[in-house]
Amino acid sequence: MRAITPRSICLVAFATLTALLSWVAAAAGDGGIGTPDPPKVKDVVCSDRCLDVRTVTETGKVEVTGKDLDDTTVVKFPAEEGRIEVRPSSVQPGAVSAKVPTGATSGRVVVVTRYGTKAKAPEDLTVKPEDAIKPVDGFAVKRVEADPGTAYFDGTKDIELNYLFEADDPADIRIDVVSKDTGKTVDSIVEKDREPFSNQTVAWDGLDSKGKPPHNGKYKFRVSALGGESGSSDAAGFAYYDHIFPLRGKHGYGDGLGAGRGHQGQDVFARCGTKIVAARGGKVQVNAYQSAAGYYVVIDGKKTGEDYVYMHMEKQGRPKEGSRVKTGEMIGRESDTGDAQGCHLHFELWSAPGWYEGGHVLDPTRPLKKWDKWS
Ligand SMILES: [Zn+2]
Repeated sequence: MRAITPRSICLVAFATLTALLSWVAAAAGDGGIGTPDPPKVKDVVCSDRCLDVRTVTETGKVEVTGKDLDDTTVVKFPAEEGRIEVRPSSVQPGAVSAKVPTGATSGRVVVVTRYGTKAKAPEDLTVKPEDAIKPVDGFAVKRVEADPGTAYFDGTKDIELNYLFEADDPADIRIDVVSKDTGKTVDSIVEKDREPFSNQTVAWDGLDSKGKPPHNGKYKFRVSALGGESGSSDAAGFAYYDHIFPLRGKHGYGDGLGAGRGHQGQDVFARCGTKIVAARGGKVQVNAYQSAAGYYVVIDGKKTGEDYVYMHMEKQGRPKEGSRVKTGEMIGRESDTGDAQGCHLHFELWSAPGWYEGGHVLDPTRPLKKWDKWS
């Protein structure tokens, strides 16, 4: 279990003090202060003594996330009869932490503010008995390494963690995917009964605990034993992005949207034959030739519904219509087929439901320049 540091005690005291002061201010009311917005709960996740993202053991700790939570005075856990109330151990506008009380059962957690307003978690928290976590002796993480160092949503390579740990016996291992920007755990993987002193590999699917792609940025894998005096390491860092820049070579930008001629995309110039990859994985909707576009490919982006259009390719694109491509997968080479002055990629982005299916042209220049920065 994590020890309480002087800093966290300090934070709790500070939170209580600021809460008290705001209550005094509200109570002193000169009529100018109305009742604040009611709290909203987005999620309840386990932060200590966890078996999974939303599975905690008795005496563990949870974090309630949401909005307008800073007036929370009570956190209620379901119990055999009614609910058990506890005071939060820390309170912030976007997050409230609380210890799971003895006797708590699985179900929805509720927060209550000093004004009597309430909010219920949208999903169940599962509470298991304390002995569901087997103690692990002699646990220490020996090696961690993320591969590849830069990963993409629906990418050609799985994001893998290679790790090695020591312990007196086989252990259940918990791997958290933690955002370096926010410090939040976006996903957790539990691996049962792993052998110490043996190389372990685990793949992460690139989706958060709710099945959505997390935000672009730096992440790390954190390894600990479920029964943990948790040893962990920060060495397993990687970057994760939702798109890759489609031209894989030195390039320069030409005409963008409009350009005084009803241009529907962004031109990017590069040496003839430069590789073109899918900026976003998805389903190949069109792979064809047209007199103006030349050889072109349209891909229906996975989980965006937006269409990604690549024109003036050297020859018929690689992927078959109806097939699936991954983010970063090669789809062809850049050229000047069709109506093109010099080798360039003409790239279009269409809103859902897509290209000549009821979507409309989006300005692709800013997204392209954003993807260019990290790929
Ligand atoms: Zn163009």
